[in-house]
Amino acid sequence: LDAHLAPYVGESGEVKGIIAVLHDVTDIRRLEKMRSEFVANVSHELKTPITSVKGFAETLLDGAMEDEELCRSFLTIIYDESDRLHRLIKDILYLSSIEHHRIPLTIENVNLTQAVYGTADTVKEGAAKKNIDMTFPEKKDVWIEGERDRIQQIILNLLSNAISYTPEGGEISVTITEQENEVKLRISDTGIGIAQKELPRIFERFYRVDKARSRNSGGTGLGLAIVKHLVDSHHGTINVESMEGEGTTFIVTLPKKQEQEI
Ligand code: ADP
Repeated sequence: LDAHLAPYVGESGEVKGIIAVLHDVTDIRRLEKMRSEFVANVSHELKTPITSVKGFAETLLDGAMEDEELCRSFLTIIYDESDRLHRLIKDILYLSSIEHHRIPLTIENVNLTQAVYGTADTVKEGAAKKNIDMTFPEKKDVWIEGERDRIQQIILNLLSNAISYTPEGGEISVTITEQENEVKLRISDTGIGIAQKELPRIFERFYRVDKARSRNSGGTGLGLAIVKHLVDSHHGTINVESMEGEGTTFIVTLPKKQEQEI
């Protein structure tokens, strides 16, 4: 609470009482705290790859360049770290643009099944490399209202995570179930799972259960924060069920396109 006190003065100048104006500033403080935490996180996340790019470039300039093999391995690190920086900046800008509603949704009819198949094509290679078996929903049109690119972004982030956090030889399955007014999209994996106590935090920006593993898999720690935002903006909900060591299921519920009655 923020309090402002002022004396309440009567006609002849005598103090009759005190006027207190109380403002509830909890929300403002909370936002300020979130904002400064975000800036601190961003700075830290950007610093790590830049330090590494700088360090390896310096070592090359100091003479490591003469050794061709070493040169190649350092340049690969520099390339990978710049790539991470690029992804990080792209995700930060994307998240901030959707958070500020700068780009309103362009509502169109989206075939969810088609969106799943279209997105899966872009991640199939990554799954095949790890020998992960993927199963997809029956090829039946399921219509929702939303913005196709953003729906695909939701699916892409969840599928990429499923692949990253599932060891070699695992399984991923995507199903779609239609109910009267809503559609449920389930993305399940047989991966490392998430401990119960971590579940409430995974949608926070930059929150990772295991920082090292997330970095190694190329994660920016923003994927699920973006998913949560996009699902909210489509008036949907997202839930997660997980067992450590067994696997994880993300369930996205979206409103179904209502049949037009004539
Ligand atoms: P990241 O870029 O680190 O993957 P996300 O925001 O996409 O960031 O996810 C946040 C964290 O949630 C991850 O670092 C990981 O610890 C956990 N996580 C997300 N998806 C899965 C999954 N399918 N299986 C296990 N853990 C997951």
